Amino acid sequence: MFGKRPGRLIAMSNHDKCPICKKNEMEYFIYENLSEVHCPRCGDYYIHRDIIMDIKEMTFTSREVANISGYIYENKDFIINKDNLYMLKKIQSPSFHEKSDKLLIGLEKMTEYAGQYLEKDDDWLWVRISWCLDDKELNEILSFLESSNRIHRDSKSGTHRYKISPMGWLYLETIKKKNPESQQCFVAMWFDDEMNEIYENYIKKGIINAGYKPVRIDQKPFNDKIDDQILAEIRKSKFIIADFTGHRGGVYFEAGFALGLNLEVIFICRKDDLKKLHFDVRQYNFILWEKDSLNKLRDSIQYRIERIFGKGNYNPN
Ligand SMILES: [Zn+2]
Repeated sequence: MFGKRPGRLIAMSNHDKCPICKKNEMEYFIYENLSEVHCPRCGDYYIHRDIIMDIKEMTFTSREVANISGYIYENKDFIINKDNLYMLKKIQSPSFHEKSDKLLIGLEKMTEYAGQYLEKDDDWLWVRISWCLDDKELNEILSFLESSNRIHRDSKSGTHRYKISPMGWLYLETIKKKNPESQQCFVAMWFDDEMNEIYENYIKKGIINAGYKPVRIDQKPFNDKIDDQILAEIRKSKFIIADFTGHRGGVYFEAGFALGLNLEVIFICRKDDLKKLHFDVRQYNFILWEKDSLNKLRDSIQYRIERIFGKGNYNPN
């Protein structure tokens, strides 16, 4: 059940079909501005009043239903509204390995103590967690996790019970360090007027075009103070972009901090400023940019991110 009650309840039903999968009967609660849906396939979500007719008329492929229900699972209390309705069809499918990571992380969330077997009783829940089409695809993921020794199936009495194995716990430690569920990219850079313009129009856009959420903490131009907020935002990020133009001490520190957390760092620098780089970072594969070809910087950032992480799901609109 949902955490918040969105106003006065007007009506409820349990015979209508879910507007996403169009197959399963949903529990449906109609409030003044929102409707609350509990679909056994798609999970729990809200629909804003303004778009109820639109979503009922939309059709979704079974892969789109799988992606939407996975997305809803990861974004608790998700409200479908006019700003995100069309984004739903564009959610990217995770790769096989990303699905298996999602399932393992989901199992970890359900596990109360190491060694606990989890019963696969609600098939659709596990399918949602792993962004799978159906039980068949889920079983492939489970077999992969089993054969790579990350989970263990209870072989007794033919039950469908699984526990995370010691290798699974170890693997979880390694992927958790990389914030697999984060969509955030922290940007470390020099704060001056010219650089602000480059950030707003090119760096930020490259990140958004790749499907990730750019975060930059505003600072005064000559202040390299690293505060708790900066470190907290880096910790929450999936990766960071560090622009070394201007050679600010703060940028070196933040890039080093991110590397220490096992986060990917994308190094960038204005070409004519490269020679001043400290030798400790020269070994990295820099994206170099020039003032007269900034669109290239924007696109290079997008392609580098997509090459490393695949396209993200973040949409600012
Ligand atoms: Zn549904």
